[in-house]
Amino acid sequence: MSLANKTAVVTGSTSGIGLAIARTFARDGANVVINGFGDAAAIEAERAGIEAEFGVKAAYSAADMTKPDEIAVMIAEAEARFGSVDVLVNNAGIQFVAPIEEFPVDKWNAILAINLSAAFHAIRAAVPGMKARKWGRIINTASAHSLVASPYKAAYVTAKHGLAGLTKTVALELATFGVTANCISPGYVWTPLVEKQIPETMQARGLTREQVIHDVLLQAQPTKQFVTVEQVAALALFLCGDAAAQITGANLSVDGGWTAE
Ligand code: NAD
Repeated sequence: MSLANKTAVVTGSTSGIGLAIARTFARDGANVVINGFGDAAAIEAERAGIEAEFGVKAAYSAADMTKPDEIAVMIAEAEARFGSVDVLVNNAGIQFVAPIEEFPVDKWNAILAINLSAAFHAIRAAVPGMKARKWGRIINTASAHSLVASPYKAAYVTAKHGLAGLTKTVALELATFGVTANCISPGYVWTPLVEKQIPETMQARGLTREQVIHDVLLQAQPTKQFVTVEQVAALALFLCGDAAAQITGANLSVDGGWTAE
């Protein structure tokens, strides 16, 4: 178990990809801090369930990724409670789909804050401890949209391209400290984030639900299948192991061939 006695903070892990990553890390022996929004009782059930199922410690941070102070507190509390933050997964993200001239300014600001700036604030807070211990893993959930664009996703594509740049910069700064920084870039993964954008895309493009799924979403993926959260989590776990010690500054696609086209 490569993560025994290590602590992982996974932002945006009350749902979807983040939850799968947190559970995969816990199965591998890590203490985990889960984070994100949702029903309080459901989150507590998930937290307690991780402890019971995997025999590790799990904490919940309600930190809002739009708030730099709360992000710093999340990292400090994890270090105080578990002794270290060894793995940081910047995964929280939101999406909004609209033509550029109608794109709401508040959505632009929120997407840039959650999908990009939050990673900067969390990395900034976690790096001193990682450098001092000479070990760390920073994994940023980017997207195929960190490599290519799609129409009507101005803020998301901008934030994810920025996250890819941040990842490369951090990888270079930490290269001699035993700390790696990488992006995982999924294609379409069937999660609430994708389900929620279907009505918006129906409206933006004037399509039916079936047309959006088959002609817009899976159209992008040569395999014609959604990526699973487990497939993304398995790559995140691999990046934590010794076999991945020389993988840094990379942007790893899990996208059914999307960005090969
Ligand atoms: P999701 O909606 O299932 O999960 C998003 C998580 O982020 C939830 O836990 C939510 O509570 C949390 N979150 C949202 N706003 C927050 C805030 N202000 N503060 C703290 N937490 C917040 O979505 P998902 O599909 O699992 O997405 C996870 C990441 O994967 C995102 O960064 C997304 O851009 C990326 N991604 C998703 C897909 C996909 O197809 N689903 C593809 C590529 C990349």
